[in-house]
Amino acid sequence: MSSSTSPSNTSSTSPAGRLSSRPAISVQNLKKSFGAIEVLKDINVEIATGEVVCVIGPSGSGKSTLLRCVNLLETPTAGKIFIGDDEMTDPDVDLDKVRTRVGMVFQSFNLFPHLTVLRNLTVAQTKVLKRSKEEAEKIAMSTLTRVGLAEKAQAYPAQLSGGQQQRVAIARSLSMSPELMLFDEPTSALDPELVGEVLAVMKGLAKEGMTMMVVTHEMAFARDVADRVIFMDGGYIVEQGPPDECIGNPQNERTKSFLSRVL
Ligand code: ADP
Ligand code: MG
Repeated sequence: MSSSTSPSNTSSTSPAGRLSSRPAISVQNLKKSFGAIEVLKDINVEIATGEVVCVIGPSGSGKSTLLRCVNLLETPTAGKIFIGDDEMTDPDVDLDKVRTRVGMVFQSFNLFPHLTVLRNLTVAQTKVLKRSKEEAEKIAMSTLTRVGLAEKAQAYPAQLSGGQQQRVAIARSLSMSPELMLFDEPTSALDPELVGEVLAVMKGLAKEGMTMMVVTHEMAFARDVADRVIFMDGGYIVEQGPPDECIGNPQNERTKSFLSRVL
């Protein structure tokens, strides 16, 4: 089983930014309860800069809650979360500022329906990052190019397929120049024939060295792209390791049982 700073298996990518000594994300003794129900029970995980970690596990195991705790969309009941050097759980942290460093993509795309694709990508840049309209549009066009949708800049979300909308949502996140990206089942709402184009964009990001934490049921993607797979069950990390081990040759009975149902 690998340590939390497992080396990258994507040796074809640029070494720049990969495997810095300080983790991009550090989760320490994290617990989260909703009322009397303890959903996360002592989660400890570190994610290295440039590392791609896929989080798998049954429905209700706490995957979304873990991701949402990382950028404090949920307030942890106990424990500490660090993004780089900054402690998200420090009461004095400038949460809005630290959050801009963390991109998040959800199952639902949540684009503004009344705004063009380009405007969807520039609003937060100008409002939150105070970029000029010109700079924001330049960055927006470059991230749209990255997801293969530059020609849709003037379209409205309703004119796009679900796969294209999710690629726009990814581009919108990237336009904020995040240090790392969190994905929560980004392809689960898509028709099967549209899943591949979104996974291809994510694979491209991984190859470019983006630090990524991806909750997914796409085992082929996890095997292909992840440096490390984390299996969660019942609010715990039950097993983790390189995909060949954690998916290809799981040791824990609960991992085996889960995989036998999804593979
Ligand atoms: P997963 O993403 O692995 O399916 P979640 O993190 O969404 O799991 O949920 C884990 C558990 O926490 C579930 O039992 C769910 O019902 C519960 N839960 C999640 N969010 C809330 C909430 N806001 N209030 C109460 N219970 C919640
Ligand atoms: Mg979930």
